[in-house]
Amino acid sequence: MGVSILTIIYIIAAVTFIMGLKMMSNPKTARKGNTTAGIGMLFAIFGTIFLFKDETGANLGNYTWIFGGLLIGAIAGIIMAKKVKMTAMPEMVSMFNGLGGASAALISTVEFNRLVKDNFQITVGETGVAAANELLVLPVTAGTLLILFSGLVLGGITFSGSVIAWGKLSGRVKDFAFKGQHLINIGLLILAIGLAAYVTANKTEVSPVWFYLVLILSLIYGIFFVLPIGGADMPVVISLLNSLSGISAACSGFLYNNKVILTGGILVGAAGTILTVLMCRAMNRSLLNVLIGSFGGSQTSGSDKGPMQHKEISLNDAAVVMSFANKVIVVPGYGLAVAQAQHACHELEKLLESKGVQVKYAIHPVAGRMPGHMNVLLAEADVSYEKLLEMEVANQEFPTTDVVLVLGANDVVNPAAKHDQASPIYGMPILDVESARMVIVNKRSMKPGYAGIENELFYQPKTSMLFGDAKKALNDLVTEIKSI
Ligand code: NDP
Repeated sequence: MGVSILTIIYIIAAVTFIMGLKMMSNPKTARKGNTTAGIGMLFAIFGTIFLFKDETGANLGNYTWIFGGLLIGAIAGIIMAKKVKMTAMPEMVSMFNGLGGASAALISTVEFNRLVKDNFQITVGETGVAAANELLVLPVTAGTLLILFSGLVLGGITFSGSVIAWGKLSGRVKDFAFKGQHLINIGLLILAIGLAAYVTANKTEVSPVWFYLVLILSLIYGIFFVLPIGGADMPVVISLLNSLSGISAACSGFLYNNKVILTGGILVGAAGTILTVLMCRAMNRSLLNVLIGSFGGSQTSGSDKGPMQHKEISLNDAAVVMSFANKVIVVPGYGLAVAQAQHACHELEKLLESKGVQVKYAIHPVAGRMPGHMNVLLAEADVSYEKLLEMEVANQEFPTTDVVLVLGANDVVNPAAKHDQASPIYGMPILDVESARMVIVNKRSMKPGYAGIENELFYQPKTSMLFGDAKKALNDLVTEIKSI
């Protein structure tokens, strides 16, 4: 009886995951989507704890361990979620991906150990402990081993790769690459998969040491795979790691024949894969390039144009040109998130519109530090979704735009991506703001953005710099425009 109720709970949970995911595709309903899926997950967890029964009809037991873990995890989660700044969200997402991968790898490890323990009892019996190098016979199907190793390899890569991604996003880990690294990366991956395939195919003679070797190789591959990636290409890697965390979780679902883990894992894996493909397109990279970690941040821009002069614009002049413009397009970037200037930005938009100016936003797919970062920020400030232009549409609108206001964006408007082959962002589609009549760039200094490269846009004749923190600059602009 308990099992059938549990099955119904799992189905309901799976439905909430799908509904939640659908709601997350729109900023207006995203919050509700998250809560819906979260409630479904809560039911699935407590349903499993209280209603699950094994073949002998016994409950899960181990309640002290389970509730101890739940309590510690919940407290840590609440503290992290409360404390995290909006700009540090990508790091947190990376960490979550990593923890998902670690869980999958741990489940594979625990299950393998159980197999080995059972097997020792069969082969060694009461005579004692087997030597570490003793070959064992694993009494499971090749399919089970395949799933077990898939969870181990994918989980291991996801864990170590995500920890490095977290370090890079938070500025704790620097890009690192050496000659021949691509070959070593491929070699490591082939070795891990090859060894796993060998054990799966020859399960009659297996050493437990090989299992741990596969784990170590996967962990090292994860590190080497993410370490050299820089030059603004991290978004692709983050969504790829997100999809890997889902697939590795799905492997755990297979292992335990648990439909809710399976559904959750498949949904995360599929959503992450779609996002990876979209991010690849946005960055103009092939997935193969990502897989062997071959696009690097170690390159620097080849163009040395000598000292260049930029010009500044005063608040008053910026306020005047924007007030008398027909069309203004705002380009938000990472700096907007740092300054938490989304509400001030919406204020400026409303004020300009009250003066008859048409205001829109141009959203680059990798602006900010996580996929959809700008959409989330602007939705938080109640900016109408219809005003957000995707890159292709925005690029068609710039030639008929009077003023483009770049707010804390840098790499996503860097023309070097179009012509400088030595630039680490070469090939990445950008927002063509230079085709507008005038460009005003707000940032605090002439320092580069995430890719660490100079931006020639800032020195072009039609560009003027409005220095200062984005929130303060926007608030001041609003005051100035009101006084015109
Ligand atoms: P960038 O990181 O290129 O530039 C942001 C700019 O904001 C900086 O040049 C900085 O200049 C300015 N800034 C910082 N703080 C403030 C502030 N308080 N007020 C005003 N300006 C500020 O951002 P973009 O959004 O243009 O590009 C995103 C980059 O991040 C891309 O290279 C992308 O590939 C990468 N990335 C994106 C991810 C994603 O999923 N979206 C994930 C990981 C990386 P200054 O210091 O002078 O103020």
